[in-house]
Amino acid sequence: MAARIGVLALQGDFAEHIKAFEEIDCTVEAVKTPEAVLSCDALVIPGGESTTIGKLCERFGVGEAILQLHANGGAIWGTCAGMILLAKEIEGNDTQWRLGLMDMAVRRNAFGRQVESFEADLQVIGLDRPTRGVFIRAPFVTRVWGDAQAICTFRDKIVAVRQGKLLATAFHPELTDDRCMQHLFRRMIEE
Ligand code: GLN
Repeated sequence: MAARIGVLALQGDFAEHIKAFEEIDCTVEAVKTPEAVLSCDALVIPGGESTTIGKLCERFGVGEAILQLHANGGAIWGTCAGMILLAKEIEGNDTQWRLGLMDMAVRRNAFGRQVESFEADLQVIGLDRPTRGVFIRAPFVTRVWGDAQAICTFRDKIVAVRQGKLLATAFHPELTDDRCMQHLFRRMIEE
């Protein structure tokens, strides 16, 4: 049976993620409740505002459900704000709610004000050709440890990390026409 991919639809650019997975014929749906999260085989946490998504996760019990999905072996992919929520450490911030599943430290809005958004060609481990990355007030990863593996850097900054069934990207593959990162995530789900 085809895997069901949920896209967390509390805030942010979930509609673009849904469209991107539909384009490669995945079974994908918007999820907002703990029950809906747990009915999926895998989850995407979109870009948006990590403080807002985090507060909503905490308030409605969705965070607990995501941790349970992970414990059940479900794959999870966080982009941008989603990357921040997956990290164990958020630089200079001990209070912001997070899932804390990945062995990495992130710095929010790390590329600075002058370059709020930009695009770049990226070489990602696991892809056979470069892909275009769209960065929007993006974080980067300052440190990985344990089982986390940096799978992409841009100007010496880590911008994608993989740890088992967890994937985090600082950039937004759903905002380009290239679906190679969606294919990569689908392979992770099936592994
Ligand atoms: N700057 C946002 C945050 O810190 C992330 C931006 C994004 O998801 N495009 O949550």
